[in-house]
Amino acid sequence: MPRNFTNNQKLLILRQANYKCQNCGTILDTTIFEADHKTAYSKGGSTEAWNAQALCRNCNRRKSDNPQ
Ligand SMILES: [Zn+2]
Repeated sequence: MPRNFTNNQKLLILRQANYKCQNCGTILDTTIFEADHKTAYSKGGSTEAWNAQALCRNCNRRKSDNPQ
């Protein structure tokens, strides 16, 4: 399974999240939106829209700096 979400999946994820960062609530546009695996890919999480959350670039970066 690929690690990266496709553009179609990203659009779906963005729509599911009402175009807001699911961590901090920042309004997302395509320049700051990043699709994140809820269950990390490295822990067996699927690259599927249901295993994704919409984050802004800052939150996604913070998350990857502090792995759970
Ligand atoms: Zn955020």
